[in-house]
Amino acid sequence: MSLFHQHLRRAPAVLSSAWRSLHSRQTVARSITTTSVAQNGSQEVRARPRVVFSGIQPTGIPHLGNLLGALLNWVKLQRDASPEDQLIYSIVGWHALTLPQDPKALSVARRDMLAVLLAVGLDPNRSVIFHQDENPHHAELAWILNCITPMGKLRRMTTWKSRLAASRNARDDSEVDESLLNAGLFTYPVLQAADILAYRATHVPVGEDQQQHIELCRDLAESFNRTFKGKRALFPLPQHVITSSCRVLSLRDPSSKMSKSSPDLNSRILLTDTPAQVRSKIRSAVTDSTLGITYDPETRPGAANLLSILAACTDEDVQVVAARYADKGHGDLKGDVAEAVEELIKGPRAEFERLRQETAYLEEVAKKGAEKARALTEPVMKEVRTRIGLV
Ligand code: ATP
Ligand code: MG
Repeated sequence: MSLFHQHLRRAPAVLSSAWRSLHSRQTVARSITTTSVAQNGSQEVRARPRVVFSGIQPTGIPHLGNLLGALLNWVKLQRDASPEDQLIYSIVGWHALTLPQDPKALSVARRDMLAVLLAVGLDPNRSVIFHQDENPHHAELAWILNCITPMGKLRRMTTWKSRLAASRNARDDSEVDESLLNAGLFTYPVLQAADILAYRATHVPVGEDQQQHIELCRDLAESFNRTFKGKRALFPLPQHVITSSCRVLSLRDPSSKMSKSSPDLNSRILLTDTPAQVRSKIRSAVTDSTLGITYDPETRPGAANLLSILAACTDEDVQVVAARYADKGHGDLKGDVAEAVEELIKGPRAEFERLRQETAYLEEVAKKGAEKARALTEPVMKEVRTRIGLV
């Protein structure tokens, strides 16, 4: 029995036990400092309530990257937050529209995503959980921010290229045909900034792929604060909350991240995959033909990806995990990764299957969540409108 397995076996067999037991030793609270960056850029060493905002697109069932890079972190934040901290999690339907969606599938994915958020352990009584498209303030603020966003800054974002490339199954970003780029996809980082700033959020736990958007969001917040002064700067500059396993790579092409919008279903492990599907996708993951296992993301990205997945599941350092496999083969590693992943997803998977049937309950949660979200952003938007002169 491998080390991770012993660790897992000790966990109580309750819903999401893997999630709780796997991450109880490492808390996000530690990664978030109580210092926050003041408007003038200096550090305030005063503990202040945090406003945490994050979102996920209803573009399909979440994959292992979403779980390890985002959702797991959201649950940890909820567990470790102090009572004054505000936690806001959104299903961002307007972002999904930046790539073509089938309306029927989008509608199902939208409801399913809410069931997923509850299934992984988010509590609608503790966190505000809602559909972005049910709070029009996001779109209103996005328009206002669009009007102060330099085109040059948007052009420097690489995410629209990767999103387009992933959706076309292109091998790399340079193969992307820019004629397929719509204005929404080009400016979605501005909508994302609006999502965050409408709540005056201070902390944004998202995967590494979103880092450049958080930087843009800080730039826009600063620019707004500078241009539209009031008694105090309106928007705090939000911090990116980094996770230890923030980038899970595609199983078929380890040069790109695992993504919901990749057409290749074997490139990602879904929360709903059966144990047999998990095993088969990991068995066919692209690795290399070098003997022995080493952690070398540059030259051996496939093996490195599997090692990081395993390390994230067992909450160990990736080098420690790699050392255990130094004299073993890819087959051994893959077998253990498949087991660890199955342990991680089995609780939430069962809960998701149960919850997705509870449509009346889901509707009620969505309705209450949207009311709470609108109540939070209304005063901020009132102030925004006053400052810009639209009153
Ligand atoms: P899409 O392909 O539709 O953009 P996605 O897989 O990128 O889907 P999102 O809904 O855009 O998922 O992102 C939700 C969250 O998951 C974000 O915080 C994002 O940073 C994180 N995330 C997405 N992919 C990965 C990944 N491969 N590894 C780690 N985190 C990820
Ligand atoms: Mg994405």
